[in-house]
Parts: sequence; C-alpha cells; structure tokens
Amino acid sequence: MPVSLLGAAEIRRLAADLDVTPTKKLGQNFVVDANTVRKIVQAARVTASDRVVEIGPGLGSLTLAILETGASVVAVEIDHRLAERLPATAAAHDVPDGRLTVIGADALRVDTLPGEPSVLVANLPYNVSVPVLLHFLETFSYLQRGVVMVQAEVGERLAAPSGSKIYGAPSVKAAWYGSWRLAGTVSRQVFWPVPNVDSVLVGFDRDAEPRGTEEHRLRTFQIVDAAFQQRRKMLRQALSGVLGGTAADASAVLEKAGVDPTLRGEQLTVDDYARIAAL
Ligand code: SAM
Repeated sequence: MPVSLLGAAEIRRLAADLDVTPTKKLGQNFVVDANTVRKIVQAARVTASDRVVEIGPGLGSLTLAILETGASVVAVEIDHRLAERLPATAAAHDVPDGRLTVIGADALRVDTLPGEPSVLVANLPYNVSVPVLLHFLETFSYLQRGVVMVQAEVGERLAAPSGSKIYGAPSVKAAWYGSWRLAGTVSRQVFWPVPNVDSVLVGFDRDAEPRGTEEHRLRTFQIVDAAFQQRRKMLRQALSGVLGGTAADASAVLEKAGVDPTLRGEQLTVDDYARIAAL
C-alpha cells in the first residue's frame, strides 16, 4: 500500500484529539495542503534511497510526504504530545515499520542522529530557524543538502550575496558551510493557523570540503559578529576590538589579508572573513 498524505480535516481532528492548540512560542503553523508538502519534497530532490532528518514534524503532514517517496525519516519534535502521536499517524497512513524514527527533543540540543541522515527537510519553527539550521550544519557533518521552509526575510537573508542590503551575519555563517539558493515561495494560506508573514523555501548544498577547523570557524564567526554589530562603520573601526585593540592594529591585519580597511562588513564574502580569521 502506498503512503497516503494527511488532509486538512484530519490535521484539525488530530490536533483536537491531542488537545493541541497551536502555539506561537513553538512556531506551530501546520501545513494543511498536500501540494505544498509535495512541492517541498520535490525541491529537496528526495528519493527512496535517502535518509532524511526533519526538524519539527508537528502532526506529520510533511513527514508523510517525505515518506511517500520511499525515503526513511528521523524526525525531531520538541512537543511531546506531537512526538508521541507521530508513529501511530504514520502507521495509519501505511508507512512500513522501521522507516520512521521519532526523537522527542529540542532540536537545538540534539547532538546525535541515528543512521546519519544526509538530507534535511523541514518547515522550521520560525523563532529558532537560523540557530537550529546552524546547529545542524555544525554538528552533523554527514548532512549534505536540504530544503527548509522559513520566513521570507530569513530565507532571503540566508541566500543573499555579499554587497546586498539584506546580507548579514546569518548570510556569512550559512555560507561557511556551503551554497544557498531560494527555491520557491509559499502562500500563507496553506498554513493552519495562517501566519502573518510570508514563507519561502531555501535550499543548500554543503561544500565538498570543510572550509576550516572548528577553531578557525569560531574565530571567523567572532569577526563576522563584530563586523555586523556595527555595520555602518568601516571595518578598521568595527573590528578594532577583535583585531588587536586599535583601528591601526585592525587596518594592519585587514591589509595583510588583502581587505580594504575602509570597507564595511556587508561588502565582504565568507572567503574574506575566513582569510582575516586565519591571520
Ligand atoms: N512540519 C509540520 C508541518 O509542516 O505542518 C510542523 C511545522 S511547524 C512550523 C514547526 C514545528 O516545530 C512544530 O511542530 C513545533 O512544535 C516544532 N518545534 C518548535 N521548536 C522546536 C525545537 N526547538 N525543536 C524541535 N521541534 C520544534
């Protein structure tokens, strides 16, 4: 029997049954449209041989769309009522035993994933979307690619090139791990409850080789944070605190790295930041 998807009425019925009133605090906006969950899975190019990790499966609509491809899923859900119900929902929708593993935990604190999934697919809780993404990329080196749904302005920022207005610390940090692209827009009408923001899909592919050691990454991120904390200031000023103490010290380091000290943080690529951090 093929896996079947959840319908809008069934999602509401499940929530009522579990006495779940979606909360803003946990970013609980459930997708109630089968076309949308299939679109996310297609954008992620999930196939039957993939092992996928999903953050925040909720009532299971996206989970079932991933499972429909034949892939196996590890799902991490913080709300224990939802985590406990998910295996029964999967069984009722003809998911074969063993294809779904549910972890009832805060995704920000998870440090191991069974079976080392290589693909991430998620409709992320909006309040923690960037920290959760960075935590997963940092902690699970076997995660190679993925597609996530996030608030439009967060997605645009993640995929922003250097020099653009919305380019910020999250853009540089995300780029440390790989390349990012916008992979589609999603109407707010497909959610229950309807959120007051628009959503986009963002795709990523991890670089073939890690960019640097953990020490190098931490130093790079420290410099990135300093640059964007004072994004209107020239780098020689904004980075004085982390590059020696004075603007003259910072200028010397920046020049050694081949970076003009009169530029601003938004004009540098992740390569530039990594070069500065390596000195
Ligand atoms: N995947 C479902 C869908 O598309 O309908 C639900 C998506 S909803 C936007 C986000 C889900 O993430 C909710 O189920 C929420 O309980 C869960 N969540 C929120 N914070 C979390 C965290 N820190 N760790 C794991 N799950 C979390």
